[in-house]
Amino acid sequence: MGAYIGVDLGGTHIGAAVVDSATGELSALRSIYTRSREGPEAVVARMVTLIEEVIAESGQAKTAISGIGIGVPGRLDMQAGVVHYLPNLHGHWQGVPLLEEIVAALEMPTTLINDVRAMTLAEWTFGAGQGVDTIACLAVGTGVGGGFVIDGKLHLGLGGVAGEIGHQVVEPDGPACGCGGRGCLETLASGPAITAMGLEAVTRGLVTRIGELAGYDLNSVSPGLIAEAARGGDAVARAIYDKAGFYLGIAVANVLTALAPRRIVIGGGVAQAGDLLLEPIRRTVRERVFIVPAEQVEIVPARLGVNAGLIGAALWAGHSRGR
Ligand SMILES: [Zn+2]
Repeated sequence: MGAYIGVDLGGTHIGAAVVDSATGELSALRSIYTRSREGPEAVVARMVTLIEEVIAESGQAKTAISGIGIGVPGRLDMQAGVVHYLPNLHGHWQGVPLLEEIVAALEMPTTLINDVRAMTLAEWTFGAGQGVDTIACLAVGTGVGGGFVIDGKLHLGLGGVAGEIGHQVVEPDGPACGCGGRGCLETLASGPAITAMGLEAVTRGLVTRIGELAGYDLNSVSPGLIAEAARGGDAVARAIYDKAGFYLGIAVANVLTALAPRRIVIGGGVAQAGDLLLEPIRRTVRERVFIVPAEQVEIVPARLGVNAGLIGAALWAGHSRGR
């Protein structure tokens, strides 16, 4: 327990704050643009400055802060502290020794964790996963990430890769995925997949208000805009969310059968569509899962919002230090 710096490295923003690991309370919260086009070196330098600013703003001595946890949006070697693959950042991140660079610059104990594993830990500790011992968490956004807490412990698996729910196959002959696979959930139910379905509906001339709501500017079509159309009664927009929700439901059904968790927490930007997305997920689970008592599994929205990643990264820093 104590004060830790949580950092969330995102494709567009880097967020950081001092996190009280006993309460989840944030102070000195700041966010800056990632500007990943400038390359890893510039991004890491900006992250260091951001952390220094957060410490200064918190009014605490550096020595009063027990460590730094950084949530990284992709694959990494947690032990070595080296980044493998960040799909949503520009530049060559493969092999960047992020941990070493942060420690060299700030001389504070530092840990790295995948951002959605961090979110999972935060939601379980302070958010929608509180009070039960086993959860699965999904983050539906630009990609589809996930994480598991099993019997009260964040489950990491080989190299910390456990929980990559977005890369399970839900359509054997589906589209090629950035991970090298085919028909992964992420290719069918992520934000870009939903946007692509909206664009296709408009260009095919289907009867939908999506184009009108976008001011006939196809660049403005987004999951949020399609959700707005669906809420206004647009059948095409609703069908798009039904389809994404169906695939998420298949993935959730598989997770549920493998893990039998008490609760499934669904977050990420696309999940702001709320019941538009949650209802088809719940329906698919009801229709597909028989072996596990699915009626005992709650499928709920995440509660901590955009700061879940940095809260979880700070918690992880605390956990790792305890070992
Ligand atoms: Zn994949």
